[in-house]
Amino acid sequence: MSGCMLCPRKCGARREENEIGMCHVGADIFISRAAPHHFEEPPISGTRGSGTVFFAGCSLGCIFCQNKEISCDAVGKCVSEEELGEICLSLAATGVHNLNLVTGTHYTDRIARVLQRIKPKLKIPVVWNSSGYERPETLRLLEGLVDIYLPDFKYFSAELAKACSNAQDYKEVAVAALREMYRQVGAVRYDENGMLRRGTVVRHLVLPGQREDTAAVLETLAKTLPVSNILLSLMRQYTPDFAPQTAPKYLQRRVTTFEYEQALLKAQELGFTGFTQGKDAASAAFTPDFHT
Ligand code: SF4
Repeated sequence: MSGCMLCPRKCGARREENEIGMCHVGADIFISRAAPHHFEEPPISGTRGSGTVFFAGCSLGCIFCQNKEISCDAVGKCVSEEELGEICLSLAATGVHNLNLVTGTHYTDRIARVLQRIKPKLKIPVVWNSSGYERPETLRLLEGLVDIYLPDFKYFSAELAKACSNAQDYKEVAVAALREMYRQVGAVRYDENGMLRRGTVVRHLVLPGQREDTAAVLETLAKTLPVSNILLSLMRQYTPDFAPQTAPKYLQRRVTTFEYEQALLKAQELGFTGFTQGKDAASAAFTPDFHT
């Protein structure tokens, strides 16, 4: 890999020489946590949990990120591709419902190599849990290896995307990524126990003071993918605890019940089905402990 172009940042870092890219990592793979997780959407977490592997670093870097310690500071354990494969297989052996790869965009090529090797041994679906800020060309490396895509669709307006993630092209990039994800996995399918087996679940985090942007995100999603073939996860867990003092004023409070209900109404009006969150989801207590 010379001059990394894996993600839409296309920053060209010479990662093989351990030059650190905009995603905060260089040559090595760092993981921050590998453990069953019980707070994903119900048909993903089920009763035995989702086998999450959190990758350190992030190519999007939202200013309100709950996981800054791993996304920006890239705190984690350095693992080889072989070790990553063993970790994934060990996690699968604990009885989790799926293998859930969280924020692996900046390692896509290496994760794809690992999956090619371990996929025949995995009896559970592979979930790709991402920011939605991904290149279709890079996502194609995962074709046939990922069963469930779990991307965010965060922003509609370029101004909001610039202010929160320094990514004014977010909407266009995410729309192209969503199309590629859906092309690969098709309509949502469940197994005989009601657990998700295949498909795309799109997450949208409702932000304070951004009702119009949320409505535009949902309308764009409805025009991009067949509403009845995907699931929408409308998230209410935004907490200002992680936004810096310098963040725009609208990010310095929680989402109101009115704002969340307006988002919900819009989703229903457009015909989406999926998942909602209760008011108590907006708590720092839901942030996993990355030291365990
Ligand atoms: S994955 Fe990282 S190094 Fe590669 S283009 Fe994106 S930000 Fe740059």
